[in-house]
Amino acid sequence: MSTKSTQLQQIADDIITDDVSPELRAGAIQMVFADGNPNAEIVFIGEAPGKKEDEQGIPFVGAAGKFLNEMLETIGLKREDIYITNIVKYRPPNNRDPLPEEKKAFWPYLVRQLDVIQPKLVVTLGRHSMEYFLPNQKISAIHGEPKRIEFGDRKQVIVPLFHPAAALYNGGLRQTLLDDFSRIPVIISKI
Ligand code: URA
Repeated sequence: MSTKSTQLQQIADDIITDDVSPELRAGAIQMVFADGNPNAEIVFIGEAPGKKEDEQGIPFVGAAGKFLNEMLETIGLKREDIYITNIVKYRPPNNRDPLPEEKKAFWPYLVRQLDVIQPKLVVTLGRHSMEYFLPNQKISAIHGEPKRIEFGDRKQVIVPLFHPAAALYNGGLRQTLLDDFSRIPVIISKI
């Protein structure tokens, strides 16, 4: 049995070999696969890399990432305690929203990442990563609420949160996100 890190590396290699989303790849500096701990209990899933992430090859290292790190600290967690990735692994041009076909192309690789990590909890950040797990739901209605879902052959608890970038310049949303975040330890303890 290979280790989780080896299996995750294989998924990253497969994204290159399968040439997923060649147009996005051509416009990006590099793939941004994931960061953090493959043995984590919590996996955070964002949308797509931005400029800083594309430059460094690491998810959530820009302004939204700094805010995320601050929120993690409020619940006693560091980046090394969690695993973090995006649904789309290349930066879209000019940071536009990822297209439905781009999200669809990367979805099977995200499912494989979760199959390897087997987290207790998946936290989606923003509607783009929420919609594949919880289709036809509105983030404004269900943010912060744990949902039990089945996909592939697994059961998974998901908590959809607002995206930290959306909350950066909106004080009300920022407090909502902090409040939702503060519930994560309780949610984890009940799984
Ligand atoms: N926003 C995201 O959704 N992902 C990142 O990696 C950075 C910003």
